[in-house]
Amino acid sequence: MYVRQLKLGPMENFVYLLGAEGAHETAVVDPAWDFAAALRAAEEDGRAITHALISHHHFDHVNGLPDVLARGGIRVYAHKLDVPKIAPEMQKEIEGLSAGDDVEVGPLRVSVLHTPGHTPGSTCWHAGGGLFAGDTVFVNACGRCDLAGGDPEQMFHSLKRVAELPEEVKLYPGHDYGDVPVSSIGRERANNPYFQKLASLTDFVSWRMRPRK
Ligand SMILES: [Zn+2]
Repeated sequence: MYVRQLKLGPMENFVYLLGAEGAHETAVVDPAWDFAAALRAAEEDGRAITHALISHHHFDHVNGLPDVLARGGIRVYAHKLDVPKIAPEMQKEIEGLSAGDDVEVGPLRVSVLHTPGHTPGSTCWHAGGGLFAGDTVFVNACGRCDLAGGDPEQMFHSLKRVAELPEEVKLYPGHDYGDVPVSSIGRERANNPYFQKLASLTDFVSWRMRPRK
């Protein structure tokens, strides 16, 4: 699988390009901050952005969507529960998906792992040996559940599902918040304090919702 990680914007966001090795078709995960940079990166690698996959509706993950739509010819996907939170004039351009749906990016199949908790429609995009986790799982952390639409009980169940993936699956987080830019399910199971709390729903919820400095 082809994967390229770009760090863009003032909030340490990671934007990803992915597709089948040697193919032309390429998806951008979370087009934000500098879509021109993503286009240039794809072109450097002899590829073209044909799909955009949204992890969730927060502005720091979707603020490049106007540029994506202006370019034309790029199909945009998000979980149907987060589509209504995206600017109304863009909603009709987005295909709303559900848990288990797939997107074919050329020969690469990318699946929706619906992981609510940070937002109702938060999605981890699962392709090949990689999980593009948005703001659901970070290196050594997980997404906040105290923002509008957040739910720590849903996050508990979402992290449990992520933890069941094979340990060798690579974790590609939505922000550069950890000690490494790319991790794996096995590394997070071993090191991520939120994965350590998955034995008890009540412990997880109280710890996730502990007062922040
Ligand atoms: Zn977010």
